[in-house]
Amino acid sequence: MTTTAIWVRFTGLPHRFPAKSWRIPNHTGSFASLPPDTPYIIIFEDEAIFANQLGGKRRRTLSLDQTRTWGYNGDDDCQAIYAQAQTPDADPTKVFCLRMILNAKHSTSDTRSTPFKVYEKLVNDAVFHSNHLRDLEGVYVPLHYGLWIMDAGDWAGTVLFSLTQWCGTSWNELQYTTLNTAANRILVGRSYEALHDFGIDCGGLDRVYDFRHVIFDVYAPGLTQAQRSNGEAPCYIVDFSEARADHECKRVVPVLPLGFSLSSTQVGCREMTDVLILLKFMPLFEPSPSAKQVLAAVAWHSEYSKRHPDQPGWQVLAAQRAKLYPDMPPVHPHFEIAFEDESLYARATFTDEFAPDSDPDDESETTDRAESASPDSDPSDNGRRG
Ligand SMILES: [Zn+2]
Repeated sequence: MTTTAIWVRFTGLPHRFPAKSWRIPNHTGSFASLPPDTPYIIIFEDEAIFANQLGGKRRRTLSLDQTRTWGYNGDDDCQAIYAQAQTPDADPTKVFCLRMILNAKHSTSDTRSTPFKVYEKLVNDAVFHSNHLRDLEGVYVPLHYGLWIMDAGDWAGTVLFSLTQWCGTSWNELQYTTLNTAANRILVGRSYEALHDFGIDCGGLDRVYDFRHVIFDVYAPGLTQAQRSNGEAPCYIVDFSEARADHECKRVVPVLPLGFSLSSTQVGCREMTDVLILLKFMPLFEPSPSAKQVLAAVAWHSEYSKRHPDQPGWQVLAAQRAKLYPDMPPVHPHFEIAFEDESLYARATFTDEFAPDSDPDDESETTDRAESASPDSDPSDNGRRG
C-alpha cells in the first residue's frame, strides 16, 4: 500500500510533525512508493540541514534558527534549503533528502519572488521525474517520492518539501578531494552519456559548480576505498527542473580526455560539449598530439554510421568506444560488444547480459528495471521514442 502520511522529527524541536502527500496542481502522474515500514523520519539539528553557498555553491550547514524566517528576508537569503533524513533505526538503505519551501504560504505568495522560483523548480523537477524518469530512478537518478506538506508551527509555518533518495556527496565537493581521479571524472562523463542515450538532456551546464548535480554515493555499503577512487561508486544526476526529454543525442565523440578542443558543432551535442569542457577533457589553449586521434574518432563515427545505418546512435558510440578507446570503461556496462571481424568498421553486435536470451533491440521485451533497460526504449513514455 502506498504511504501517504509520515511523521517528520527534527532533533532540537519539541514536537514531531505529521506530513502528508501533496498533489501537484494539474498533475496526475505517480511517484515511487516509500519503502515499507517508514512511519517516520528524523533530521539531526546542526548537522543535517544545508544550503549551498552563493559563490561556488559549496554545501554549508545551517541551524534550525538560521532557517526559521526563510522567505521573509527578501531575495538575498533564499538559497534552497535541503536536509538529510534517516529512519529511527538508522537503516543505511533508507536515507532521504528533503528539499524544503519553508513558510510556504508566505514565501510562494509573490510569483515574481526568488522563493517562488525555488518552489517552481521543486515542482518542475518532481513533474519531470514522474513523467520521464521513473524507469531510471535508483540507478541513474534518485528515487523521487513526490511532494509532501506539513505544518511546522513556530519553526517555519507550512513546509512543502520533496522527498527523494539521499544520493551522497556532489562532485562539486569531491573535486577538491583525493577522489578527483581520472576514473571518477570519466564516471561523471559516463553518467551524462547514459542519460543522453535515454533521451534526457539535463538543461545545460554553464559553470563548473553545476556539477553539484552529480552525486556520488561514496559511502555505499560494501564500497572499498579503491573502488571509490576507481570510478566504481554509484553515481546519480539530480535536478531536472530545466531538463528536456526526447533528446536525440547527436554527439560523435565519447566523453573522455580527448586532449583536443572541438567546437560544439563538431561534438554534435551542446550539453556534452559543456561537460567535456568543464571536465577539462578538451583543453582550450593547448594544442596536443591527441588532435589526430580525436579527428580520427569523428571520422570513424561518420564512416561507421554510413556503413551501418540501421544501428541507433548509442550503439555507434558504444562501438566507437570499444574500437578506439578499448581501455576506457563503457557507458552501458551490461552490454557485451563483439565485432564481426578485425577490420576497422566491422559491425558490432550487442548482447545484454541481463537478458541473454533476448535481442536488446526487441521492443516487445518490456522491463521496468533501469539496470536492464536498453537506451532504445524511451524511459519517458512506454517505448515511444521521438
Ligand atoms: Zn546529447
